[in-house]
Amino acid sequence: MTARVLVVDDIKANVKLLEARLSAEYFEVLTANSGPEALDVLENNRVDIVLLDVMMPGMDGFEVCERLKNNHLTQHIPVIMVTALDTPQDRLRGLEVGADDFLTKPVDDVALVTRVKNLSRLKMLTDEMSMRAETGSQMGLNAQNMPIFNNEEIKGRILLVEDQPRSAERISKNLSSRHKVQIETNPQQALFHLADQDHDLLIISLDLEGVDGLRLCSQVRSLERTRNLPILVTVNPDDKARLMRGLDMGVNDYMVRPICVNEMMARVNTQIRRKMYADYLRNCLETRVELAVTDALTGLYNRHYLETHLKTLFEDSLKNNKSLSLLMTDIDYFKSVNDSFGHDAGDNVLKEFARRLRQNTRSMDLACRIGGEEFVIVMPDTTLPECYNVAERLRRAIEQEPFTTKDNEKSLEITTSIGITALDPSITTLEALLKKADNALYCAKRDGRNRVSANAA
Ligand code: GH3
Ligand code: MG
Ligand code: MG
Repeated sequence: MTARVLVVDDIKANVKLLEARLSAEYFEVLTANSGPEALDVLENNRVDIVLLDVMMPGMDGFEVCERLKNNHLTQHIPVIMVTALDTPQDRLRGLEVGADDFLTKPVDDVALVTRVKNLSRLKMLTDEMSMRAETGSQMGLNAQNMPIFNNEEIKGRILLVEDQPRSAERISKNLSSRHKVQIETNPQQALFHLADQDHDLLIISLDLEGVDGLRLCSQVRSLERTRNLPILVTVNPDDKARLMRGLDMGVNDYMVRPICVNEMMARVNTQIRRKMYADYLRNCLETRVELAVTDALTGLYNRHYLETHLKTLFEDSLKNNKSLSLLMTDIDYFKSVNDSFGHDAGDNVLKEFARRLRQNTRSMDLACRIGGEEFVIVMPDTTLPECYNVAERLRRAIEQEPFTTKDNEKSLEITTSIGITALDPSITTLEALLKKADNALYCAKRDGRNRVSANAA
C-alpha cells in the first residue's frame, strides 16, 4: 500500500518520529510544521491521510480539520487527530469538526499503523469512485460536485449486534434520535438481516457471550452484498489484541467501553456520511452511464453510443477481414401520425417500433435510435444477403400488425423504409459506410417507401 500521509506537528522531533515509523511501513510521508503550511501542502499535493497535531500555536488542529472538511476538494481525506491530553472534550470537539480518528501521545506503534492502513483503504475506495465519475464526465456529461451532507441529513439504518440488554438499550436509545436502530443478539441471525435488508452501519460487540464477534466481522467483509458496509465494534479496554485483528480485517472504527455517548454519535455520523457519499457516487455513476448510452424514450442505444462503438467494430472488422452490415430505417410519413393523433400517439408508435426492432434482431446486434424516427442496427459478422433477410423480416413486422394510439383507441397503419449496406473493399472509412446506408435508405424512400433497398445509387 502506497498511501501518502501528511504529518502535521509544530514540534520537529514529533514530526521526525512519526515520519520514521510510517516510512518503515512503506508509507510516503509529507510534513508540515503549522496549520497554514498543512493547508498549503494539501492544496498542492495529493494526500491520502492527515495526521494532525491538535495543539499548535496560531491555527490549531481543530481549525485545520474544520477547513479541510469544509472544502469539497479535501473533505474526503481522512484526518487522524493526535492529542497530548486524551480528554473526552478534546475528542468530541475533534469529531465535531470532522476528524475520523484519534491517536494519543505518546503514539502507540501498532495503533498508528493499523489506523493509517485502515483509513487509507477507505480513501482508495472513494478515490476509485471519484475517478470513475470523472471518466463519466469526460464522456461529455456535466461534472457534478460532490455533495457535502449536513449533519441533519445524516440518517441511517443501523444493525446493532449486542447481547447485553443494558448496553444495547443505552446505545439504541441515544442513536434512535436520528437513526433507525435494530437490535440483534445473535450473530447468525444478524447475517440473515443483512442479507435481506439494507443497512448503513453495523455495530458489533466484541464481548458477546459464547460467540466471537470478529467472526461476524470477517463474514460481513467477505460477502459481496456487505463488503463495503461500515463496521463499528465495541471493545473492552483490555481487549486490544482482538481490536487490532478486527481493524486488520477491515473494521472501520471502534469504541472502547464505557462508551462516551457524544463520541459515539459523532463517530456513527462519520461512518454513515462516508457511506452516503459512496452510495451517492455509485448512483450518479449508474444513472450517468445509462443516460450516456441509451435513449430515454425507447431504451435503445443512442447516437453517441453508436458512434463510439461502431468505430471499434468497424476497425475490428476491417482488420480481421470479417463481415459487417448496417441497417438504417426511417418510419414512413411519421409526421402525419403526430399531426393527426398528437405527439403522445407518435411517442407510443416509436416505443412499439423500437420493441419490434429489438424483437427482430440478435443480442449481438446493436440497435440504436439515431434521430426522431430514424434507427440503425449494426450487425457484426453479417453479410449483405443475411442483412437483407433481417430487413425484410423487420419491414413485414412493422407493416403486418397495426400500431395503436396510447389508449388503444385507434389503430394506426405504419410502414418503414430500410436501407442496408455491408462492408466491402471499396469502403475504407466509417463515414463512407454510414453514407452508403443513408443513400440506400434514400433510394427506398424515393422508390415508393415500405421497402428495403441495398442500392446506394
Ligand atoms: P418520410 O416518409 O419521408 O420519412 O416522412 P416523415 O413524415 O416520416 O419524415 P419527416 O422527417 O418529415 O418527419 C419526421 C417527424 O418525426 C417530424 C417530427 O415531428 C417527428 N418526431 C421526431 N422525433 C419525435 C419524437 O421523439 N416523438 C414524436 N412523437 N415525434 C417525433
Ligand atoms: Mg420518416
Ligand atoms: Mg426523418
